[in-house]
Parts: sequence; structure tokens; C-alpha cells
Amino acid sequence: MSENQKNLTPMLQQYMEIKNQHQGAILFYRLGDFYEMFFDDAIKASKILGITLTSRNSKADTDKVPLCGIPYHSSASYLAKLVRAGHKVAVCEQVEDPKEAKGIVKREVVRIITPGLVTDEQLLDDKNNLYIAAVIGPRKKTDTIWGISILDISTGEFLAGEFSSYETILDELARMTPSEILLPEKQLEDAEGLMATLSKQIGQILPAVCITSRADYDFHKDRAKELLLDHFRVANLAGFGCEQMKEGLSAAGALFAYINETQKTNLSHINKLSPIDLNDVLIIDESSRRNLEITQTIAGGTREGSLLATLDFTCTPMGARLLKKSLLFPIQNTERIIARHDTVEVLHKEASLRSSLRELLLKVYDIERLNSRIVLGSANARDLTALKHSLGQLPQLKELLSSAQGTILQTIHESMDSLTDICELLESSINEEAPVTLRDGKLIKTGYNAELDQINILLKNGKQLILDLENKEKEASGIAKLKIGFNKVFGYYFEVSKIQQVNVPDYFIRKQTLVNAERFITPELKEFENKVLGAQDKSLELEHALFCQIRSQLAEQSSRIMETASFLAELDLFASLAEAARRLKYVRPEINSGDTISISDGRHPVIECALPNGKFVPNDIHLDQSDNEVLIITGPNMAGKSTILRQTALIVLMAQVGSFVPATSAAIGVVDRIFTRVGAMDNLRQGQSTFMVEMNETANILNNATEKSLVILDEIGRGTSTFDGLSIAWAVTEELVNKNGTGVKTIFATHYHELTELSKTNKRIKNFNIGVREWNDTIIFLHKLLAGGTNRSYGIQVAALAGVPPHVIERANELLHNIEKGEFNQYGEPNIAQSKNDKKSGKPNQMALFAAANDPVHIKLENADPNQLTPMEALTLVYELKALSRAD
Ligand code: ADP
Repeated sequence: MSENQKNLTPMLQQYMEIKNQHQGAILFYRLGDFYEMFFDDAIKASKILGITLTSRNSKADTDKVPLCGIPYHSSASYLAKLVRAGHKVAVCEQVEDPKEAKGIVKREVVRIITPGLVTDEQLLDDKNNLYIAAVIGPRKKTDTIWGISILDISTGEFLAGEFSSYETILDELARMTPSEILLPEKQLEDAEGLMATLSKQIGQILPAVCITSRADYDFHKDRAKELLLDHFRVANLAGFGCEQMKEGLSAAGALFAYINETQKTNLSHINKLSPIDLNDVLIIDESSRRNLEITQTIAGGTREGSLLATLDFTCTPMGARLLKKSLLFPIQNTERIIARHDTVEVLHKEASLRSSLRELLLKVYDIERLNSRIVLGSANARDLTALKHSLGQLPQLKELLSSAQGTILQTIHESMDSLTDICELLESSINEEAPVTLRDGKLIKTGYNAELDQINILLKNGKQLILDLENKEKEASGIAKLKIGFNKVFGYYFEVSKIQQVNVPDYFIRKQTLVNAERFITPELKEFENKVLGAQDKSLELEHALFCQIRSQLAEQSSRIMETASFLAELDLFASLAEAARRLKYVRPEINSGDTISISDGRHPVIECALPNGKFVPNDIHLDQSDNEVLIITGPNMAGKSTILRQTALIVLMAQVGSFVPATSAAIGVVDRIFTRVGAMDNLRQGQSTFMVEMNETANILNNATEKSLVILDEIGRGTSTFDGLSIAWAVTEELVNKNGTGVKTIFATHYHELTELSKTNKRIKNFNIGVREWNDTIIFLHKLLAGGTNRSYGIQVAALAGVPPHVIERANELLHNIEKGEFNQYGEPNIAQSKNDKKSGKPNQMALFAAANDPVHIKLENADPNQLTPMEALTLVYELKALSRAD
């Protein structure tokens, strides 16, 4: 103990000892009905929580210790605030009964809540997983392998993988959006190293992420493996398909060490480790994912307005999370995609099956998270009742699926465990009206436990026994107003008014004197009291014990519960895709392994919903590797170029997720990657110029696109001078159309009309434009894709539509006219500057670069023929010219 600590009260000394072991967290120190925070923790927390900072004396009277506290009962919302602010909170409880404590009550940290390890309902968002990740980089300069592991403790999902590229790791983190990432201390400390770069880059992509540096020891291969084998109680990890992994397991082990340290509880709901397998995934890099607004919008970062929000007709939180995951991991395997479409088709066709399923699913709660709370020991009786109601739907759900077509639905029907035994246990034991707390009784149903029932009968009869005793003593003593009362200090007593005291029998023992009355006890009354009060305590204790027992029984079944939950999530996902298809008028796409993408009357799934019904103009897109490899789309701003680009990418993505698509028909040759290069607004915060970002993305496309990829380019080369930009755009298009001999399917929207000339150089390049109709001085957007290029930008008309003042528009029109006419006037002035309001005429005020053709010097020179001149005549001509120029 330090000298400073010796000056503290024993309680603060205990506080300091515990705090010293949890330096990185805010310590919630339980004191009666409060959690108290002291010193710096108090200063920090009071600010974040907006609560009063007070102080308390330490031992020496003069030393004041900063202090703030929150009531134990409402701690959850405070905890949530601190964790959301990126802090860790160590919850320190009293671990012995204060009545029995000798000296200071024993306290221990029972749990540490970190941004990535949250199970409290208040901190979780139904529709999103809350992930924590661990990453280890290559250990030596000669190594290339990275390990990554990802866990959602609130659902038990646990993944590990290893990859040889930094980009894949960064991309996985960006896709899974963990709230916290564990990184090895040493690698992180090397400021020049890749781990430090990773930490910085991921911090830019996920600004709220909490980076936690962990001892290298935690990432040690042998230790990591040992921890995992120990937890799963297996001899090797082959059963999980992870045996061959090295660094992936190091990362998984590091995660496990961290949860063991922070959770200090049963983690049996984490019952498998699954390999992260990206082989079958349609890869969409981080910026493309953002550009396509798959799970959130670019501008506000909101779910609303994203593809996910448009497609989400799920009925359960598990289904909603699975839908999100499916959109983040579209697949490439043709058979798997077709099997998904088969399933959606069945549910799409059979409206009554779909609606009955969805009705039942709506009654299903978040089983995954209920199960985790059960295993972690934090589920209350209401959670168990929610589980019961959820499981109660299973028999009917299975029944509905009994005649459903399609392999996926049949597998769910055959393999989903209805968990009737668990449902029966909950039905017979847990009281539906139970309170939130576990210490106030009313948890267990009558009939579940004979001992509890007996005690409860005694308690119930107690009231009658009191009345009987009161009447008996009333009669014996003749005191008409004798009555039995109860208070916490004396327990049960007889109360007699002062006037009646003479009649008090001698076996009454006086306990208390009031102004108008006296209170007495009798041995019989005390005996009764012991029985009743004892029974009450016993009942509460027994109820609590029985509840915990039931919860443990359920925890033992957590694997079964999890498996059923995942079937339900899948069912919900397909029902949701079918519902979306029905409501939004999508069709089943034809999937094949060819190289053609052919969409008839395609629509943008999100923009279509934002427009009034029927206002969206559908368009056809056909891409192949023979005549339509690169489509160059020209057209004014606002015509709908970006929309058509994005809708093509989204339709392909939706098809490969297993969804129907917004079109009247679509045939999709499966793609391996979707690349986009559109807008670059929000990379600016990463300190890169727009042009640099554009070129990074372009380089990525050129380096990684294959003949199976789909590339969407929206204006490249705009961030630099026109000629540079045009040259880059031209060269990039040439490269894409020729890449690997076959070229890459590309749609390119551009302002550079010059690029339409490219179609003359390669038959695989085709020009399109988006129709615009001129009407008076303005234009009407038709949003219709038409074959052929265009050389009109309509920029000024668009500016007028945007509200640029009429006189500025008029001037711009004039300037445009000038530019189109030529570059310079007869005086060498740029034509662009001319105005009809210009009164200037006559001589230029500057020497013309090319002199006008009608001046006398010019005429004389023009008329002279040097071949015909004698030397003398030539000299005379020079004199004359000189004289003429002076006269001028
Ligand atoms: P561009 O990329 O050519 O500047 P956008 O694709 O951004 O144009 O489209 C501008 C707006 O035009 C969209 O926000 C949408 O409101 C409307 N729009 C685009 N395409 C269509 C369409 N096919 N049908 C109806 N409205 C459309």
C-alpha cells in the first residue's frame, strides 16, 4: 500500500486496491443501494452522465475525495451512456452479506463492460450485431499472414480467419463494424508498422471504435489454442473446420482471454468457432459498399434510405440481423443462389403460407439474445416468459412448413427442434406476472415445487391465524379493542389503549409505551411470528434458488436453443425477401454462370420507393463480352446517370443475395466482384484530396477486376484539368475493354463527350445517353436510356432549374455561344469575354496577335510578289511600309 493510500479510510483503501487492478476502466463501487465513483473516475463520469460531483472526507479531514454516485436500480442507463462514450466500466459488488461482515464488506469486480462486450438490453440494438474483434499481424518481416477473429457475445456468434493481405483485414473490419478491436501491444507500438496504420485507418472508417491494446502473451499460439480447446472441451478444432488455422486461432484465443477476464461467467452459449470463408463471397470493397448505400446512406450514415431498410420486412431481430449479414455477404455459388431463389419463390407464390408464417414470427422474441442472457446468468423471469412465448410458436411454424416446397424450407421443417420440453418446463414453472427483480418473489408458479407450495400455504394461512389469535386474546382478557400490529423493529405485538391497561393479562410482556397505548408480546405470538417471518424469507429464498436452477437447466440446453434460433432467422429472412418481392413488385432473376447481365425495365430499389408510385422510369441494361462490354453513358446532370449505374450494381447484388429484383426480367451471369467509383465526398476526412481518392479507387479497379467482375464508373478524371482528366478516362476505358483479353463489364457515366469516340475504336464499346427534351428555354428529364452518344450538356438549363438567378443564366448562355463560335475576335481578345452590351468598337487597345486582314501594311504586303522584285524595289517597299506603319 502506498503512503497516500495509508491516509485513506479503510473503505477507500479497499476501493484503491480494486481500482489499481482495473486502471483502464471506470470503477462502479457498490455501496448499499448505490454505485459510487471516486477520484478521477468521478470527475470523468459526472461530466458524461451530467450528475452532481460531490466530495467526501478521506481520513485526514482536510483531504476531500471527489465522488459521484448512481442508484443501483437505475444503473443500466448510466452504464449505457459511459460505454457509448467509449469507456469501460468495471462493476464491483459486495460479495458478502454486510450483516455478517467482519470489518469492511468484501467486494469484487464481477464483470467489466466494454464497448465490444455488451449484453445489457439497453445497450444493444435489435437489428444490429455488436461485435468485438481481435487482429494479429504478420509476426516477422518474412511472414504475410494476418489473423482475425470476431465475436458477438450477445448472440454467441464466433468467427476466425486468416488472410494474406492487409486490405482484406481492413475490409473485414469495415464490413463487420466491430465496436472494439483488440490489437497486440508490441505490433501496435511500432509507429511505422502496419498494425499502427491499421489502427489509424480503421479509426477513420469507424470513428466510434474502441481500440484496446492487449499483451502479446494473449496472442501466443499455444496459449490461444489451449484456451479454445479448454472452452469447447474438445481435443482439436477439426470439428469446427479450424484445425489448420494458426494466426486466426491466435486472434480467437486473444478474444477469449479478454472475455474470460472481463465477463467472469459461464460462456457456454459460445459453442462453436466458425471459419471466415470469403471464397464464395461476392466481394464488394469498403468504398463500393459505402457508395452503393447498402446498409447505410453516405450523407447521413443512417439505415433509413439504404438498401437494407428498403428490403427489411423481417419480423424478428434475428431475421433483421441475418438480412444485414446477407447483404454484406452476397454469394457467388450458382446453386446456392438458385436454392435461395427457389425458397423465396415458394413463399412469394403462397401468400397464405407467407402471411401465416410472418404472423407467428412476429410473436417470436430475440431468442439469440435471450439465450445469451440465460447463459450469462442475467436473464430475469420476464426473459424466460418471453422465451416461452417464442418457443410456443414453434409447433405451428413447423406444421405450416410440413407441405412447403423447396429444399431449404423442407430442411427447416425436418431439422428445427421445437424445444417442447423447454417450453413445458417454462410453462409449468415461471409465473407470467413475475416482477423484473429476482429477490421479491412471485417468480414461480404454484404446483411446480411442493416445498414452496407448503410455505406459501403457511404464509397465506398466517393471516387467518393472526385473526384467530387476536380473537382468542380479546375474549380471554375482555379487552374489546385489543388488536395485533406489526412493525419492523418489534415484529408482531398486541396493542392495548391506556384506558384498557388494567385488563392486560399478566403473561403479556410489555415492549413499548406510546402516548395513548401500550404494546405487548406473548410467547405464543413470538412463536407465530417466527413461523410466519421465517416462512416469508424462506419463500423468497426458495423462489430465487428455484429460478436460478431453472435458468441453469436452460443454459445447459443453449446449443439446442441457438440452433432453433438460427433456423428461425433463416425462415424470417426468406419470408421477408418474399414479402419485399410481393410488395415492391420484384421478379425472380435467372442465374447462370455465363458472362451476360441482361436487365429489362430495371429500377433503382431505393429511389423508386422515394418517388410517387409509378414515377420511376425503368430502363434496360445489357452487358456482355461481345458487343456490349463497356457502356458509355452521357447526359446532363440530373438525367439519371448515377441512378442507372447504381441500380445495375444493386440488382446484381440483390440477385446474388438470393432476393428477387426490381425489373420485369433479369438474367444474371454471376459476378465475382462489384467495383464502383462514384463520388468521393467522405474520404476527405481521411486527409486525401478528391482526385487522389478517385485515382486510388481507379487503381484498385484496374489491378483487381477480372473478366467476371462488374465495374461502375461515375465520372473519372474530374478532379484534374480537362485534358488530363479526359486522357485518364480514355486510357482507363481502353484498359478495361481489353483487360485480360476479354475485358471487364463496365458502365461508365461521363461528361466527356469526347469519350463517345471510343466506340469507333472497339466494337465492344457502346454509347448511350439519357433522354432529355428541350422545351422553350428549359429541359425536361426523361430518365430514359437511349442508344447513341450526345454532345449536349445542358449544364446551363440545369443551373436555371436549380435556381441560379436569370441574369447569370443569360450571361452564361452568351458566354457559351461565344465559346462555341471560336476562341478570339479580330482584335485578339478572347471571344468568351464578349457581350452584346459591349459598346467598344474601333481599334484594339493592344497589339493584335494575328493582325486584321484589311490594314494598309497588310494589303501592301499581300500585293507584293517577292519573286518579281528587284533589290532596289524591295528596298523601296520597306521604306513605304515603314512610312505606312508610322502613319498608322
Ligand atoms: P445524374 O447522375 O445524371 O446527375 P442522378 O442519377 O443523380 O442523375 O438522378 C438525379 C435524380 O433524378 C434522382 O435523384 C431521381 O430523383 C431522378 N431520377 C433518376 N433516374 C430516374 C428514373 N429512372 N426515373 C425517375 N426519376 C429518376
